[in-house]
Amino acid sequence: MLNPNHNEPECFISFKVKNSPHSYQDDCNDYELRLCLREALIKEQKYQCFYCEKKILNDTSKVHIDHIKQRDVYHKLECKYSNMALSCNEKTHCAKFKDKQEIWDDSKFLRIFSENSELQENPSDFFIYRSNGKIGVKKTLSENEKKRAINTIEYLNLNHKNLIQVRENIFLQLEMYKNNGYQIDEIYTFFNEFENLFKGN
Ligand SMILES: [Zn+2]
Repeated sequence: MLNPNHNEPECFISFKVKNSPHSYQDDCNDYELRLCLREALIKEQKYQCFYCEKKILNDTSKVHIDHIKQRDVYHKLECKYSNMALSCNEKTHCAKFKDKQEIWDDSKFLRIFSENSELQENPSDFFIYRSNGKIGVKKTLSENEKKRAINTIEYLNLNHKNLIQVRENIFLQLEMYKNNGYQIDEIYTFFNEFENLFKGN
């Protein structure tokens, strides 16, 4: 999973000043704004799904703007940019899977979006990518952190069999490239997805 998006685009800042939106669904239902938000998110996420890190295209049939903390419950966070993430539209994992589960709860899951910035947690500090394709949690975490990190993986179904298979395949290719003398940064540019898998290897 990627770390939260922070660079709120100018279009959203000025839209908020002008319109003081309270509800994303009703007050931000503006074609140009949504386009601009999607552009900003996809660039910040380097064309990867926020949750699974698979490559995504800026195509509304394939991606959507997700509210990390569900907007129908966390009303105050509806128009917060850092509570927004661009997710793939897969039903078996990521945002669409999450929204069939319970509501995001900071005591159970990682605090990927927190109103208190000091409590904010970066997924890259919690997860490791194993060569068998599975995401695991770091050994150095406290028991509570481990539990919340594992819950988060399950909540988003990040160890869905399709994702495991893709990641395992990347690891095999990664080894091959390494054996041929390529550096990790260079290998990443051949894939341009699963950024954190490469960072940890
Ligand atoms: Zn995804």
